[in-house]
Amino acid sequence: MKLFIWKISHNALPTNSTIFHRHLSSDSVCIRRLDVDEDAIHCLHDCGMAHDIWTDLGMANKDDFMTRSVYQWIRKFTYSDITSLFVVGMWWIWKHRNMVFFMVVMLGLSG
Ligand SMILES: [Zn+2]
Repeated sequence: MKLFIWKISHNALPTNSTIFHRHLSSDSVCIRRLDVDEDAIHCLHDCGMAHDIWTDLGMANKDDFMTRSVYQWIRKFTYSDITSLFVVGMWWIWKHRNMVFFMVVMLGLSG
């Protein structure tokens, strides 16, 4: 989990936007939305499924939860009274994103 948090806070999580900017992909968009870049904050915070999970966990309404800075978001909630829930929520969202991503790739459903 520490490596996962480190990757998020150092912009090293291999989202579509990250691998596109490293010239390892031809597309930076979210595979679930197709109209926005998939950076870490979008993938783990803003994307529909992620937002639904945070809402279900009762975290979407917490103060400062709906920020646009991934660094501030990670820093605030990895050192709080809800650290475990926050980290597990992000991990689950990332795992689900990867399941959808690789299913799309394996089935040849991407552009
Ligand atoms: Zn998305």
